[in-house]
Amino acid sequence: MKSTKKILLALVLGALVGLGLNLYAPTLFTYLDSYLFYPLGKIFTSSIKMLVVPLVLFSIILGTTGLGDPKKLGRIGLKTIGYFLTTTAIAIIIAMSLAIVISPGTKGTFDTENASYEVAETTSVTDTLLNIIPSNPFQAFADGNMLQIILMSVLVGLALTALGEKTKGLVSLIEQGNDVMMYLVQLVMRLAPYGTFGLIATAVGSQGVGAMKAMGAYMFVVLIALVIHGIVTYGGTIWFLAKKSPIWFLKEFAPAMSVAFSTSSSSATLPVSMDLAQNKLGVKKSISSFVQPLGATINMDGTSIMQGVATIFIAQVYGVQLDFTALLTVVLTAVLASIGTAGVPGVGLIMLAMVLSSVGLPVEGIGLILGIDRLLDMARTAMNIMGDTACALFISEQEKRKEAEEEEAEVAV
Ligand code: ASP
Repeated sequence: MKSTKKILLALVLGALVGLGLNLYAPTLFTYLDSYLFYPLGKIFTSSIKMLVVPLVLFSIILGTTGLGDPKKLGRIGLKTIGYFLTTTAIAIIIAMSLAIVISPGTKGTFDTENASYEVAETTSVTDTLLNIIPSNPFQAFADGNMLQIILMSVLVGLALTALGEKTKGLVSLIEQGNDVMMYLVQLVMRLAPYGTFGLIATAVGSQGVGAMKAMGAYMFVVLIALVIHGIVTYGGTIWFLAKKSPIWFLKEFAPAMSVAFSTSSSSATLPVSMDLAQNKLGVKKSISSFVQPLGATINMDGTSIMQGVATIFIAQVYGVQLDFTALLTVVLTAVLASIGTAGVPGVGLIMLAMVLSSVGLPVEGIGLILGIDRLLDMARTAMNIMGDTACALFISEQEKRKEAEEEEAEVAV
């Protein structure tokens, strides 16, 4: 059986087993979860996370040297960030419009009296941006601080380009290191079906099915907004900008989306999504190495969709009217929050507190959606990772066309 099919099968089986045990044998679930599902999931997640930091380091250095010209890097960097910010804004607008029309906060009764949420300490967006320069790069690697690692790697890449011949040996050493990491990604991916099964069984089995029923309308709006954004924004990018088939993209990219779905972590999915982008979608290595790690760190459209719907939902439940200026504030804060959201499970919810405070909504409202957020986190992470790769494909195809035109012009001369 093809590995994609195996992973998808594991996903469905894990969900069925988790749901069945949740409904009919909760005690057996607790036992199986401790000794089977959780360990299976943990082995897979840890093995893949183990590769993230060295892979990002090697691949960004190579990506930067591969682009050669610093001007080209600047152009691609600006295009990438422009794409990320625009699509995130589109995502929130879709989410808020749907939430306003469907109005999930008026469907059912919600216990606002007992809703509570402990606001976690978050770093402000200004601090996240100011912290980009690592005072100790080894600390950045040890902490897995992605933005700092990205900056350091780009700088090393630029230095290697400038030094040219002198540092050729180091470049080929890094190339070999990158090959080793990519080989390990493929090895670890053999565990993916088992890991996916364990992760999904744990996630579904430990959910309160009652809570899901009460929050049905909210979950529906988030999921529909995710699907619409996937089809319209990413489908559009792949079809019109990259001039490729969205169906082909989905087929080739499905394993990465399943890994994102089961791990709820863009960062942990990065090795798989880069491998597929380079080897199955034909994205240029230099572009994939640069765009995807950056995207997994700062581009979170799926998360913004949840935040847009949650803000409107909480406003409706608490009977607060948001005027146009408030809605605009939500769009801007959620775009910024997306930059500050780390690609790990559940952070989107923590950043929601910042969005709610920006328009004076009660942060305790988060308590209402807390119970079902784990499931939505799975779906939004799959969208987050899809957005990064759609962008990498679009930029890579555009670069390829540009290079072909330049070659043609040279031949004509
Ligand atoms: N789990 C998401 C991600 O890794 C972030 C979030 O929405 O909590 O992309």
